[in-house]
Amino acid sequence: MYPNWILQRAQLTPHRTALNFEGQIWTFEKLKKISIERAEQLTALGIKPKERVAIMGPSQPRLIFMMYACMHLQCEMVMLNRKLSKHELEYQIKDAQVEKVLVDDEDNSLLPDHQKPLLFSEVESSMRKPFEIEKEWSLDQTISIMYTSGTTGYPKGVRQTAGNHQASALASVLNIGLTEEDVWLCAVPLFHISGFSILVRSLLYGNAVKLYKKFDEEGAVEDIANGTVTHMSAVAVMLQRVIQGLEERGLRASPKFKLLLAGGGPVPENYIERAHRLKLKVSQTYGMTETSSQTATLSNEDALRKLGSAGKPLFFNQIKIAGALSPREMGEILIRGPHVTPGYIGHFSEKGATADGWLHTGDIGYLDEEGYLFVVDRRSDLIISGGENIYPAEIENVLLSHEAVQEAGVCALADETWGQVPAAFIVLKSDAEESELMQFCTERLAKYKVPKHFHFVPALPRNGSDKLMRRKLKDLLK
Ligand code: ATP
Ligand code: MG
Repeated sequence: MYPNWILQRAQLTPHRTALNFEGQIWTFEKLKKISIERAEQLTALGIKPKERVAIMGPSQPRLIFMMYACMHLQCEMVMLNRKLSKHELEYQIKDAQVEKVLVDDEDNSLLPDHQKPLLFSEVESSMRKPFEIEKEWSLDQTISIMYTSGTTGYPKGVRQTAGNHQASALASVLNIGLTEEDVWLCAVPLFHISGFSILVRSLLYGNAVKLYKKFDEEGAVEDIANGTVTHMSAVAVMLQRVIQGLEERGLRASPKFKLLLAGGGPVPENYIERAHRLKLKVSQTYGMTETSSQTATLSNEDALRKLGSAGKPLFFNQIKIAGALSPREMGEILIRGPHVTPGYIGHFSEKGATADGWLHTGDIGYLDEEGYLFVVDRRSDLIISGGENIYPAEIENVLLSHEAVQEAGVCALADETWGQVPAAFIVLKSDAEESELMQFCTERLAKYKVPKHFHFVPALPRNGSDKLMRRKLKDLLK
């Protein structure tokens, strides 16, 4: 058994800053007090310990108070993504079979119309009913349930236990290190593992979180240049905006700023090189909902030497490539470690994440001679043309390096001669002809990889996490 993280942290460092939001500060003691109050209010409103509840709201302190209250009650929190459509939310709420939906008043209108949620304001103004607070937690209790992004199919509800989160936070700190002054900038969603893992780390490490309601380029650039934060998590688009912001203002990262952790998807190599010139330390990381955040991370000192790699596994984790007998052989990436989910809930609960003790990620990659992981692409997006394997990401990267291309997506189209051929869907930022792009690709790619069709479109299909959904590209032809 392990101590309740929130009580333990308040006991160890009560007066340290836990949370900074729009200039207002909360200590760990204060967080404990408010979260217990909320838990008592939830109890008065009929929420019982260990029940499964869904939670939705923008990233602000009241959402954190509500999450910590649920953790005191040992409720299984289904984290709803506020960028989803009503239809998608409906599916997840049903699939997860939650007892109750808790929603920030601001987000109430985003829920399916027939839902009768409990509003945060109702909880906050309710009377309190004391309950027996659990001082010890077991590693196999479920803390959160998060749905995958649904990039390759239907979103899957992933169970994340106390043990998963704890292992993830521990492995991360063994890799990154920690001092008392560390402040982690959180502008990634709290309903994703990227954001929630920042909260878990803060509880376990005792460091402060500077929370943003949404990503604010100016704020992040200032924080990094002034050294008011030491760490930040970001996806590639955010990193790109931070880099551009620093470049445009003629600023550099403060020496106090230690690390920007970039994950969620591949990071274009050119960003890493630009960040290096700005003294902005960036670590590329590979992880997924099923692994409660980071599995492998590339240290900053290797960033240029191993450009494009997602690094080595964190201490407790193992990575292998299915079927590979020697370095650089490609195959499905398999993961094992205490951070790996015990399984899915709902529709995919039968599927099991780890039939043979390894998590089958559905991602294709390879390990180089030194054991550095390179993530190549999603297995489901592989194109087979005349017996040759083609990875769309490679073609997209070439297209994205063309000055006229804003966004690019590549998928397979059926072909009488070759079985499949690659087709490119492109959003332009300035004029370009198909022949010009074709020529550009021919100079940089093997002939069979050059797209046989180019389609200029106003936008690419993306999901609530802004990830490109290649399986929907074909629909653009209709
Ligand atoms: P679904 O499983 O529903 O299709 P998803 O896999 O996009 O959605 P997430 O768990 O949010 O859902 O994303 C994890 C995936 O993101 C990884 O499996 C991988 O494909 C991609 N990814 C994460 N980090 C990296 C990285 N450093 N390089 C390349 N791809 C990455
Ligand atoms: Mg996935």
